[in-house]
Amino acid sequence: MTYLYPGQLRNNEPMSQHVSWRAGGMAERFYVPLNRQDLLEFVKGQSQSVFHVIGLGSNLLVRDGGLPETVIQTHGALKEIKVLRQDPEELVIEVEAGVPAPKVARSVARLGYQGAEFMAGIPGTVGGALAMNAGCYGRETWNCVHSVLTMDEKGQFFERTVEDYEVGYRHVALKNSAKHTATPRFHPTKEWFIAAKLKFINDPLLQGQKMIRELLARRVATQPLGQPNAGSVFRNPSGGFAAQLIEKCGLKGLREGGAEVSHKHANFIVNTGNATAADIENLIDRVQQRVREICGITLLPEVRIIGNKVG
Ligand SMILES: Cc1cc2nc3c(=O)[nH]c(=O)nc-3n(C[C@H](O)[C@H](O)[C@H](O)COP(=O)(O)OP(=O)(O)OC[C@H]3O[C@@H](n4cnc5c(N)ncnc54)[C@H](O)[C@@H]3O)c2cc1C
Repeated sequence: MTYLYPGQLRNNEPMSQHVSWRAGGMAERFYVPLNRQDLLEFVKGQSQSVFHVIGLGSNLLVRDGGLPETVIQTHGALKEIKVLRQDPEELVIEVEAGVPAPKVARSVARLGYQGAEFMAGIPGTVGGALAMNAGCYGRETWNCVHSVLTMDEKGQFFERTVEDYEVGYRHVALKNSAKHTATPRFHPTKEWFIAAKLKFINDPLLQGQKMIRELLARRVATQPLGQPNAGSVFRNPSGGFAAQLIEKCGLKGLREGGAEVSHKHANFIVNTGNATAADIENLIDRVQQRVREICGITLLPEVRIIGNKVG
């Protein structure tokens, strides 16, 4: 993998190097800002105003025909964590969008506070976790949010509170706006997360570091972490689990080119080595179709699919 220096604009950058599925097309332009100020100047200096802001690409499929827009990567750029308040009851931190969620989990646990442990196993950034309301084991990102700082395509900043958003299961939308949607085939947003103030509790009965170790061990045992994947492909339908439905339909091991429904976790699709984005998307469609035929339930993708198809 080629290392991208912050502040460097690249043309025709292979997105397979920036998404956890390790597949997909090119971004016409790809930028990793130096920091928040540099991001602001970059955005203001662009005539073309359609951007894709990404974090670690752990929930993202870029089609093989690539992206005609500019991709901005926050990971490696917006990376500051600051303690704003630390008292016996509560910890409040400000975290920039490009900070990996597991780093938040470790930092909070190290300071002796609880409530961030679930982030330890989510291999994305805080920005991605805010956009997705990422969560597991009964907790979600927006449970921890005090407020967020966002920026729009003109480079204008906004301080927003939780009340400004409609927040649900893997769904975050600015109220009275179609800016953030949970549609299966995702379109670029017009306002991005730059930083968040997150709050955590101090409960001596909970042992953060121990919980993180247990949670990670559980993931190693149940998820195909040795093969490129993007976590759970489908959202859980109400009252059920996508993985159980896929397994019940006998779809573990189903293949499309180099993409395969994982034998270890039925809601994961793995790249066995040479999968294209089309292989992965076709497999998503086949799984969706089979589950609909057999169980009468339409599974909706949790992963975000962007870019053009080839041909
Ligand atoms: C092994 C594995 C396990 C996983 N386990 C979980 C889990 O337990 N729970 C869970 O919820 N998810 C899980 N995921 C999925 C993924 O890690 C999360 O959705 C994560 O929050 C995505 O963060 P990211 O930085 O990688 O986002 P990306 O994949 O880079 O982007 C995802 C979406 O968020 C948008 N986005 C990214 N940054 C910003 C920003 N700053 N402002 C606005 N929009 C932004 C992107 O445009 C895109 O639409 C898992 C993935 C893997 C590979």
